[in-house]
Amino acid sequence: MEPEIVADGVVVTMDYTLRLKDGTLIETSEGQEPLEYLHGQGQIIPGLEAGVAGMRVGETRQVIVPAAQAYGERQPDQIHTLSREQFPPNEPLLPGMMFYGRDSFGNSFPVTVIEVNPDTVVVDLNHPLAGEDLYFDVTVRGLRQATAEELMHGHVHGQNGDEGEDEEEEE
Ligand code: ZN
Repeated sequence: MEPEIVADGVVVTMDYTLRLKDGTLIETSEGQEPLEYLHGQGQIIPGLEAGVAGMRVGETRQVIVPAAQAYGERQPDQIHTLSREQFPPNEPLLPGMMFYGRDSFGNSFPVTVIEVNPDTVVVDLNHPLAGEDLYFDVTVRGLRQATAEELMHGHVHGQNGDEGEDEEEEE
């Protein structure tokens, strides 16, 4: 029996388009592979996961996720002035450039350059989508029951429920 609605333990295939309140397109699965994820495992942002619960195949829904439930509010204390020497000397630095830093736990975080001075660089460590309400248009394309192994791993495997392409096992 295949599941009829999006619920915990169900592998969901869905198309989505993410826009900001002003209509700016951030991301879409249109023209690409639809997103596939295991529902109930926090694989997608919590507000979106809650918003698609109960949907059926073919159903379309707009899910609005407030900033606080998405990437959080912008934190003014996440603006930092760093010494220019902390950056590679030969790499051009321009306001608006974004790159990823890595914390002591190995997690990467986005860094946006705001201002470049001769001796200092002002960076913003807020996520680029912090402070933004997210407007998702979601269409469910397929639902299937997750395999026991997928439930154990907490993520989706390949076509036939085998490990497939996912090589990094965190367990
Ligand atoms: Zn796995």
